[in-house]
Amino acid sequence: MDTEIDFISHEGLIRAAFFAVIFSGVALAEHALPRRLPGVPKSKRWTANLLMQFVDVAAVRLIFPVLPVGMALLCAQKGWGLFYYVPLPYPVAVIAGVLLLDLVIYFQHVVFHLTPALWRLHMVHHTDRDIDVTTGIRFLPLEIMVSLVIKLAAVAALGAAPLAVLIFEILLNGATMFNHGNIRIPFGLDRLIRLGVVTPDMHRVHHSVLFKETNSNYGFSFPWWDRLFGTYKAQPDAGHEKMEIGLHGYHDERALRLSSMLVMPFLYGRK
Ligand SMILES: [Zn+2]
Repeated sequence: MDTEIDFISHEGLIRAAFFAVIFSGVALAEHALPRRLPGVPKSKRWTANLLMQFVDVAAVRLIFPVLPVGMALLCAQKGWGLFYYVPLPYPVAVIAGVLLLDLVIYFQHVVFHLTPALWRLHMVHHTDRDIDVTTGIRFLPLEIMVSLVIKLAAVAALGAAPLAVLIFEILLNGATMFNHGNIRIPFGLDRLIRLGVVTPDMHRVHHSVLFKETNSNYGFSFPWWDRLFGTYKAQPDAGHEKMEIGLHGYHDERALRLSSMLVMPFLYGRK
């Protein structure tokens, strides 16, 4: 346990390393094997989306005294949460922790779509006019903060093991960058990967302008929840090259400027 805590105490470094490797890997794959042609200049979108990520990290660092892995360490010290009352073999507790936290994120995503006030925050992510690895880091700081509060509560309620939370965080961040990737993966290989992980073709359906397609494929890491709860849609009706990405009414410069994106929730519904 001590070696594990020692390892987990390097959370920041471990997560930053995974972020850098997965971001670069997906970006390189997009360059080598693009799925769709860009509709707007990539440089504009990348600038706005990377700046948004910078603001997110700064906001979380400034505002939150504890992050989910830190909360899990606190729970382990104090014996807080469900798993400390239900004795399970350690590997089973870790796997169950990862799965249950991912399930919470699936429901969180559904609720962000169905609740008007939360949709105002999440819609900024959906206004991206193309979809690629940087869409996977384009979330409003307020949405990141609401999500963080939900994660902290879920970790504390479950008493999830620190290792489970670290794996869950790395998986969620990595899978989100991968499944937004503008990568052409052969159909057979995509079918195989999406048995266990959400693929770019699967998640792209969720970024369609068509309402019935946006309201499907909510999963980020594992594809099973969508299949289980009836929100799975295998492919977009218009096909991946022809489908329209984004949000009706936002196919303009506002979707490409950080300043406009930050005020979007407050101006939603106005022209
Ligand atoms: Zn969404």
